[in-house]
Amino acid sequence: AKENGGNRFHFYSEDMTQDALRKMSLEEELRQALQEDQLTVYYQPQYDLGNKKLVGVEALVRWNHPEKGLVAPMEFIPLAEERGLINQLGLQVLQKACTQCAQWLNEGFDPGILAVNISARQLTERQVPEQISQILKFTGWPVHRLELEVTESFFISDTQRSLAVLNQLRDMGIKLAIDDFGTGYSSLSYLKQLPISKLKIDRSFTRDLIDDAEDRAISEAIIALGKSLGLQVIAEGVELEGQADILIHEGCDQAQGYLYGKPMSAEQFSLLAAANPVS
Ligand code: C2E
Ligand code: CA
Ligand code: CA
Ligand code: CA
Repeated sequence: AKENGGNRFHFYSEDMTQDALRKMSLEEELRQALQEDQLTVYYQPQYDLGNKKLVGVEALVRWNHPEKGLVAPMEFIPLAEERGLINQLGLQVLQKACTQCAQWLNEGFDPGILAVNISARQLTERQVPEQISQILKFTGWPVHRLELEVTESFFISDTQRSLAVLNQLRDMGIKLAIDDFGTGYSSLSYLKQLPISKLKIDRSFTRDLIDDAEDRAISEAIIALGKSLGLQVIAEGVELEGQADILIHEGCDQAQGYLYGKPMSAEQFSLLAAANPVS
């Protein structure tokens, strides 16, 4: 048994090395991607459940890898966070998305509110509000049309500084939404301190809304909580009419998901925007 254990340890440490090497080369490739402009942005529509109109668009990063093709964010966002590349990445996405949306607006397509994901890590960097402000000025995207989606995880580290950054962003006129709401570990009491305007119900609750009484109860509770705090509520991951019907019945304001549209290239999204002019 002792020998076996030794072998296992041997394999385990070899795996660790493999893993470390794989990460190192991915990090190198990612640095190159940031330098050589290999990131691209996909857009997913957000709809008002009352009047069924397009009210916004979420920017979702994709890596246009020279050999691997389009790489999904889960393959590189965690590494970018770990290796200190996430702010640079996030700002590139923001700049691309603001440029695109400003162009749409100029062309007479109104995409509504632009929602961009911001990593909890970025909120610990003091220069972030100024960097975002520069991008808005440079691209001409109106500040009140920008919404940043942040997960509850920001509360775990450096809360005071993150709160200060969030307050600064809010004071600039930027909207803030809590992403993946309900999946974090923090207490609800933080909600009243936060300068937020929207809760985003996580897909894990939307998914089984039709069959799972618990998930229905949770989504109902989140919507009621949002309402009583004066916040907007949007559900993500809506794939079925039945889910949308329940959300409408529960009083949810907005929805996003494959039912309305998958994340798509700017080109594809233009066609959708043209078909759904917003007044
Ligand atoms: P998220 O912010 O919760 O984004 C929602 C994810 O659900 C997206 O995956 C989207 O493609 C997917 N989705 C949307 N509607 C549906 C649906 O109806 N059904 C199903 N099954 N999935 C749906 P994606 O694009 O792969 O992004 C994954 C995560 O990567 C995002 O989760 C977000 O946390 C992160 N991410 C994406 N872009 C950025 C970025 O620019 N910056 C940062 N920091 N994170 C990003
Ligand atoms: Ca999001
Ligand atoms: Ca989510
Ligand atoms: Ca359940």
